[in-house]
Amino acid sequence: MKPPSTNPLAADIKWMLGSCLDQPSDLRERSRDCWLPSVWWTPEEEKFHLPAAAAQPKDDLQLSTLLAWAQENGVVLVPRGGGTGTLGAAVPEAGTVVIDTTRMRSFKLGQDEKGPFVRAGAGWTGAALEAKLNESGLSLCHFPDSMAASTVGGWISTRSFGQLSMRYGGIEQQVLSVVAVYPGGRVMEEEASVHLGAEGTLAVMSEAALRCRKTPGSWDGLGIRFPSLEDALGAARRAFDLLAPPSALMLQGPMDVYAAGLRVGYPGEFGFIKELVSACVLRIPLLLELFKRHVRNEWVLILIFENAPEGSAWNVLARLGVSPESASRELAAAWGESCFQWNPVSLRRAAELFCFLDVFDAWAPWDRLSGLERTLREAVSPYAFTTSFLKHFDKDGACLQMSFAGARRKRIECVGAYEAAWRAGHEACLRFGARASHHRGIGLARQPWIKACTDARWHAALRERKASADPFNILNPRKMGL
Ligand SMILES: Cc1cc2nc3c(=O)[nH]c(=O)nc-3n(C[C@H](O)[C@H](O)[C@H](O)COP(=O)(O)OP(=O)(O)OC[C@H]3O[C@@H](n4cnc5c(N)ncnc54)[C@H](O)[C@@H]3O)c2cc1C
Repeated sequence: MKPPSTNPLAADIKWMLGSCLDQPSDLRERSRDCWLPSVWWTPEEEKFHLPAAAAQPKDDLQLSTLLAWAQENGVVLVPRGGGTGTLGAAVPEAGTVVIDTTRMRSFKLGQDEKGPFVRAGAGWTGAALEAKLNESGLSLCHFPDSMAASTVGGWISTRSFGQLSMRYGGIEQQVLSVVAVYPGGRVMEEEASVHLGAEGTLAVMSEAALRCRKTPGSWDGLGIRFPSLEDALGAARRAFDLLAPPSALMLQGPMDVYAAGLRVGYPGEFGFIKELVSACVLRIPLLLELFKRHVRNEWVLILIFENAPEGSAWNVLARLGVSPESASRELAAAWGESCFQWNPVSLRRAAELFCFLDVFDAWAPWDRLSGLERTLREAVSPYAFTTSFLKHFDKDGACLQMSFAGARRKRIECVGAYEAAWRAGHEACLRFGARASHHRGIGLARQPWIKACTDARWHAALRERKASADPFNILNPRKMGL
């Protein structure tokens, strides 16, 4: 017999799955992701997003039972992986049920004509799955900055890109198929394409088959300085056309070294002191101005080659037409050290000091990248300190990743400045005709600009699929403009 409960949804879930999270701290944690405004919610605002319960299914069968029950009872479900999304895609509405996928950790290696692959539960975090694969000499070669906590399901749902995307592509090139569980409980093994970027609005993925490779060996890299973005882009284009694809090819903007220091994840015991210093510096525009004057206006092209004999990266310089004086291994090593430094506690603590550091991702063709960088910088700079990075190049164009940071004395001023920067960025992209999103998704933050952020045909197809896959709109409703 079902035990009586003051929380009937949690009681039903316990009855079906044997457990359910319903304690206030568990629900509060799952009421938000890494979308900064959720850190600044007042207690009243938080109430609009507190779920009634969080279910943690561990396999297809439990997931299917849950989705059948939800459709029958009109219960709204919000899938959640690691909660590292920065746009509120996993943020629930009050009274809904969060499906926390982190217990779904099946693991099976396989082999097909193209090489090894792994069937991995959707709840594996990148770091844990990578460590497990490394035991067999294998790697996913998918290394997003958030890999310590982001999950396989989250990657597919947001169309994630890792640091070595130049060579291996984004997650869309690496995923072979998925197991998806639909509202009503239907379980389907199918192509991943329909779920790429769908942000959990169609089905909940329980598993994915992902291509694996041999664990990469040592890497050799170079950073090459250029006096302007246009010069750096010219060299990047030559590198793209002339070289066998490097594992990474990026352009680091003049302020990025400073921004690397400001990044939210400071390792080590002095992290909190650095956060305080950053907060102070950002609050005093004069200090920032002084700092800016000391930063040389140069761009750095970073090239990373895997399994390359030490020193071999220098051989590319002649092909790119650059002099060895402008190149250094240290610049590439410094970039390598700044990756994967993220830690969510620091992110939250910095935001609680009314500091913000976020990333705006946009896409443009090669010949418009420099114009996009200037337009976006000019639009966002009145509200925040900006720094630019160009990465994930392909034959058509690249992603501009603009970090923007600021701090204010009061919560309300901080929220105002952050929102103004965010709005200015999107409006600038609209005016410029660039796509205001690349690999970070849409979430709640981008709902007002969804047309500027998605391909119209793709979005129309998603809408059509949603109507047949989830006719009662119980999966992550109101996300993706659905
Ligand atoms: C410091 C930092 C650095 C980052 N760096 C990168 C980077 O280098 N590259 C990059 O691509 N992104 C990056 N991100 C963004 C984020 O990590 C990615 O969007 C990631 O893919 C989200 O994964 P997650 O498991 O945390 O998903 P969540 O945030 O939990 O969820 C994201 C979306 O996926 C849906 N979802 C999750 N699991 C499932 C499932 N099993 N089935 C169906 N839907 C599901 C959710 O409903 C939600 O809509 C970064 C974020 C931070 C905070």
